[in-house]
Amino acid sequence: MPERMLQFVRVAQQQPEKRSVPERRHDFAEIYRSFEQRQAAVQSARCSQCGVPFCQVHCPLGNNIPDWLKLTAEGRLEEAWEVSAATNNLPEVCGRICPQDRLCEGNCVIEKGFESVTIGAVERYLTDTAFERGWVKPIRPRIERPQSVGIIGAGPAGLAAAEQLRHLGYQAMIYDRYDRVGGLMIYGIPSFKLEKEIILRRWKLWEEGGIRFQLNCDVGRDIALSELQDRHDAVLLATGVYKARELGGPGSGLPCIIPALRYLIASNRQGLGDDVPDFTSGLLNAAGKNVVVIGGGDTAMDCVRTAVRQGARSVKCLYRRDRANMPGSMREVSNAEEEGVEFVWLAAPEAFLGSDGVSGVRATRMHLGMPDASGRQSVEPLPGSHFTLAADLVVKALGFDPEDGLVGEKDLEVTRWGTVRINYRTFMTSLPGVFAAGDIVRGASLVVWAIRDGRDAAAHIHNYLQSQTAAIAVAAE
Ligand code: FAD
Ligand code: SF4
Ligand code: SF4
Repeated sequence: MPERMLQFVRVAQQQPEKRSVPERRHDFAEIYRSFEQRQAAVQSARCSQCGVPFCQVHCPLGNNIPDWLKLTAEGRLEEAWEVSAATNNLPEVCGRICPQDRLCEGNCVIEKGFESVTIGAVERYLTDTAFERGWVKPIRPRIERPQSVGIIGAGPAGLAAAEQLRHLGYQAMIYDRYDRVGGLMIYGIPSFKLEKEIILRRWKLWEEGGIRFQLNCDVGRDIALSELQDRHDAVLLATGVYKARELGGPGSGLPCIIPALRYLIASNRQGLGDDVPDFTSGLLNAAGKNVVVIGGGDTAMDCVRTAVRQGARSVKCLYRRDRANMPGSMREVSNAEEEGVEFVWLAAPEAFLGSDGVSGVRATRMHLGMPDASGRQSVEPLPGSHFTLAADLVVKALGFDPEDGLVGEKDLEVTRWGTVRINYRTFMTSLPGVFAAGDIVRGASLVVWAIRDGRDAAAHIHNYLQSQTAAIAVAAE
């Protein structure tokens, strides 16, 4: 039966059920269960159908949230899914891993007083249902165009661009140095947030829709960018950011002090059934170890929660600010706390102890000082406040920067942060016909922003290719 809208006064917010801590500590399955149809309808009906929907304004994709909520409440699921898929290439991914508390849900007008509508959970439910019922079909462009676009990077930015270009009939070829499609969605983000099957089922559809992939191909090493420029009518750089920020201090070069992504990639590959010698040897396996993760963002949360699941003896997260100043999503911090991670707030590493491998971290207490120009409070060490934590494995999760010598192209202009410089009106880089999108342009960000950038880049590449075709036609007259 269709639900009447504006039910937020009568009906309380209910997020999908979370698996119990004892159960989820021992496996890598997603921790949130999916809504049932009735729950999705009842929760959608809490929406007050705002004239100016702030949820939509604060969604990087401008998703038409009130409309899909109303259709869900009315039981018109296929139409609801069509509306959600019209603006988002990966709604089932965003529904799972967007930090909704900072985006759509955090800006829902009923949040103050009644708790927001569960937008992410409904979005996920719609696309999972669409897959189950066979509504999601491969792309079938109305026309096929001869021009081709070479895309470097099979992460969300490159994939969203490829889909949009295929819809317009262009030939899309994606090059990636990994052996699987998905970028950080497959090898960075752990399965307890995003099960790998979600990406693998999309991969099949992308191929059926005519997107071609050349995997195990490192552009700049295996093939030059200039060669791709010759092969294609336009090129899109969507290579993400992978250079781990480093730790300094005595002992920071000791064995068993590992960058976060190396640790997470090994865990994800192992989960996918790959042979991972560094995992089998125990180097990248936290089982039975005292683990200290340094950092306070979402990557750090993914590392501590991975260590818990691998059976670590103890897991501590060392962060130099306090809980209120964590850059990561509060939902993920709470999940980590529930799973038994111990947070050592206001503490920073000073030195690493050990000889053959790390055996401890000497840390110092910090306090928050005056806000700096950006408004963020500075952190200062408290003299004489040293303490030591036992550690057999230290994971560095301090953030990422772009790699040096991007795709081996020295004429590609970069900003002072090393990200690729683009003209924001055209998304074109300093190289004619070469565009860029995603983390490689904005720095480490979110999947939803990568999708947005990929879609925008595709629209600009279309304009560019149209103008090139028009110019050739004029020249031929
Ligand atoms: P990527 O996803 O990094 O994809 C880039 C692709 O380019 C990769 O496949 C790479 O192999 C390929 N590539 C790079 N260089 C070359 C080359 N020279 N030749 C060929 N291929 C190349 N975001 C969220 O929204 N929610 C989260 O919960 C979340 N959790 C995260 C957890 C971790 C551990 C990390 C590291 C990131 C997380 N993010 C999260 C951020 C999100 O994953 C990224 O913002 C997003 O994936 C960026 O997309 P992208 O397409 O720009 O780059
Ligand atoms: Fe919210 Fe992300 Fe979905 Fe937008 S894409 S509606 S921000 S969950
Ligand atoms: Fe509905 Fe909240 Fe969006 Fe308003 S802001 S339309 S109540 S989801």
